Amino acid sequence: MDFNPELNEDQIQIQQWVHDFAAEVVRPAAADWDEREETPWPIIKEAAEIGLYSWEFMAEAMMNDPTGLTMPVALEELFWGDAGIGLSIMGSGLAAAGIAASGTPEQVMEWVPQCYGSAENLMLGAFASSEPDAGSDVAAIRTRAVYEESTDEWVINGTKTWITNGGIADVHVVVAVVDPELGSRGHASFVIPPGNAGLSQGQKFQKHGIRASHTAEVVLTDCRIPGNCVLGGRDKLEERLARVREGKSGNAQAAMQTFESTRPAVGAQAVGIARAAYEYSLEYAKERRQFGRPIIQNQSIAFMLADMAMEIDAARALVWRGAWLGKHKKYRNAEGSMAKLKAGRVAVWATERAIQILGGYGYVRDYPVERWHRDAKIYDIFEGTEQIQQLVISRAISGMRIE
Ligand SMILES: Cc1cc2nc3c(=O)[nH]c(=O)nc-3n(C[C@H](O)[C@H](O)[C@H](O)COP(=O)(O)OP(=O)(O)OC[C@H]3O[C@@H](n4cnc5c(N)ncnc54)[C@H](O)[C@@H]3O)c2cc1C
Repeated sequence: MDFNPELNEDQIQIQQWVHDFAAEVVRPAAADWDEREETPWPIIKEAAEIGLYSWEFMAEAMMNDPTGLTMPVALEELFWGDAGIGLSIMGSGLAAAGIAASGTPEQVMEWVPQCYGSAENLMLGAFASSEPDAGSDVAAIRTRAVYEESTDEWVINGTKTWITNGGIADVHVVVAVVDPELGSRGHASFVIPPGNAGLSQGQKFQKHGIRASHTAEVVLTDCRIPGNCVLGGRDKLEERLARVREGKSGNAQAAMQTFESTRPAVGAQAVGIARAAYEYSLEYAKERRQFGRPIIQNQSIAFMLADMAMEIDAARALVWRGAWLGKHKKYRNAEGSMAKLKAGRVAVWATERAIQILGGYGYVRDYPVERWHRDAKIYDIFEGTEQIQQLVISRAISGMRIE
């Protein structure tokens, strides 16, 4: 199957369906939830009622799509509506993806539905890797998981930080050290089931953007979970650790492919924000008159918009290509990282240009453009910073160890 940027019937329908939800429900609520800096439960509930917030939609979009494009298409539309609310709806997907990537089929069946619940009983998932001293440097994680033979339990201690849905989620997926001698290859992922007394929320962060998305510390204090909550199962973990101790591969290659293949989806979110700002500033420039003519009739404004249109299309093309290559396990030059890096930069740049086009109106909260600019910046930071994407790409293109 060759890469084909033409969407099929199903994808066009999904695109329209998510767009309508974003236009009618998400965007009108965006300014309010941004000000409140709270999880927009009523909107998540509405998303669950139409089936957008559900594990079934995630499974359908991820698994029954040979092109890889369904998810980026849906994400672009939702985040066009609002990125903070969009992340509140899609944040559980981080936990679901972590479970799907490392869990056994039984674990996937048990835990992924609990990351979503139902419209009547909403549940959330969180994926917790980052720590105060381990952001880009994942190998520096200190949260420790120790297996207790007598009770068949894992006991986990540590502090996670910057966690989307952290502390308010029902299911937390936590990355912890099981063998400190082995660096990042001595890590494993664990499911912390709902209502565990050893897990609590620490500080909730007040943020620059995506303020409708909850971000907080997660504190694990003698957090006891059943032995079968290690993702992939204990036997597989022991086999992997034994292989690594013998100096053999620990499946690092497969893990890298998984990381790469999630990046285009993050890029698609950034494209959605950039497109929102572009469309808004294009309309504004056609209507706003100064010196007796619409401001778009000045080349300096029109050319900004021309560049915005081009850069957004370029970012989307990289996102779709990255998603397709990820689906077909065909990465050669870290094309997933390229997509995320480009889309993040375009979102920050295009939203800043949009402020310029609106002038003073772009700078005040009565108009959405300043919010889009605040929201865009996170795409240079989370899921691998700008510099980490450059590192991954430069290592892939050179085949050399770049520091
Ligand atoms: C709103 C928000 C939500 C988040 N959600 C989650 C979540 O759900 N789960 C989760 O686990 N994490 C989450 N994160 C954490 C996020 O992934 C980290 O912030 C990110 O990985 C960067 O880590 P850091 O903040 O510690 O920065 P650092 O790693 O300390 O980086 C600081 C600066 O140094 C640069 N740098 C670091 N190392 C290198 C190097 N080797 N070469 C060149 N430059 C380098 C970085 O690019 C950056 O510019 C979230 C963060 C935020 C802000």
